[in-house]
Amino acid sequence: MSIESRPDLLKHYLKLDQGKKIQAEYIWIDGDGEFRSKTTTCDQKINDIKELKEWNFDGSSTNQAPGHDSDIYLRPAAFYRDPFRGGDNILVIAECYNSDGTPNKTNYRHHAKKTMDLAKGEEPWFGIEQEYTILDTDNYPLGWPKGGFPAPQGPYYCGVGAGKIFARDLIEAHYRACLYAGIKISGINAEVMPSQWEFQVGPCSGIEMGDQLMLARFILHRMSEDWNVKITFHPKLFPKMDLAGSGAHVNFSVNSTRMPGTGMKAIETMIKKLEGKHIEHIAAYGEGNELRLTGKNETGKITEFSSGVANRGCSIRIPRHVAEQGYGYFEDRRPASNIDPYRVTGLLVETTLLD
Ligand code: ADP
Ligand code: MN
Ligand code: MN
Ligand code: MN
Ligand code: MN
Repeated sequence: MSIESRPDLLKHYLKLDQGKKIQAEYIWIDGDGEFRSKTTTCDQKINDIKELKEWNFDGSSTNQAPGHDSDIYLRPAAFYRDPFRGGDNILVIAECYNSDGTPNKTNYRHHAKKTMDLAKGEEPWFGIEQEYTILDTDNYPLGWPKGGFPAPQGPYYCGVGAGKIFARDLIEAHYRACLYAGIKISGINAEVMPSQWEFQVGPCSGIEMGDQLMLARFILHRMSEDWNVKITFHPKLFPKMDLAGSGAHVNFSVNSTRMPGTGMKAIETMIKKLEGKHIEHIAAYGEGNELRLTGKNETGKITEFSSGVANRGCSIRIPRHVAEQGYGYFEDRRPASNIDPYRVTGLLVETTLLD
């Protein structure tokens, strides 16, 4: 808790009647891939995305536009219940557009939406496993001895007990806040490194995957203000140490892979296509990913494409139960924790379905 923060006092004000008016928090990605958000008041409860106004902001303050032509348009794309303000208040995922109508440089949703619309007939589903690390305000992992390292990895993954687990309350609060918002959060677990965690979102259909993962990340960042900690999605905090990196495994299926009898064949065909585009995919699979994809710590090597059943040292893993039943989904283990999910899910669909 930061010194000035008084959540106990805030409670009273948040209970005050707000009449018919609601608050809409517009959320977007800035020029450096970071979250930005600002609030507007709406006259009444929002039932449809079309009822939300197109808005704008000063893009010269967010590395998204030059000062002489600084207006960036914010176009509402999806909205969810707001777990911070409660009631009928909402969180809005907004897309950024330049003054000439073109999508802004970090607006990967624009293109992904077109891709997903083209592939609608195959009903692509995704599930993303988002790994991340909680840092103290000094940017060092929470609960670690300052300047040093905790006892070796082993007891922390899915761990239970003091000394192994830090900030369980934040993680619990985030889980519930995501459920409240309507995010299809499918689980959480403590990860291999102390203060490293994972949450899973999915299965989500098409563009919904990017929206929901972005929102779950936003909620986590917003909550970190209250706990006075930092959240990092950096894929490899300690590249010189034998410590786990952070990924964002993308689980993927479509109608044909989910078809009993022929699903495995469809999965194998898709893996072949992915092999041919390994370099293009890696280029979009997160900054600093070369520090993480070393072939150690349950990763495949960045320079080699590989696949296997139940093998966690591969680029692509087919879960054991999928191979046994002969249909289902596969897991792309290459994406780093800091991916843009619109970019990665869009690319998977383009390579496997729209080639
Ligand atoms: P792991 O064993 O790799 O740790 P997790 O249980 O953490 O796997 O995550 C698996 C993810 O796969 C979840 O997000 C889940 O929603 C998703 N998933 C399950 N079935 C499918 C499917 N048919 N298509 C796409 N994603 C799926
Ligand atoms: Mn102003
Ligand atoms: Mn997992
Ligand atoms: Mn994991
Ligand atoms: Mn996984």
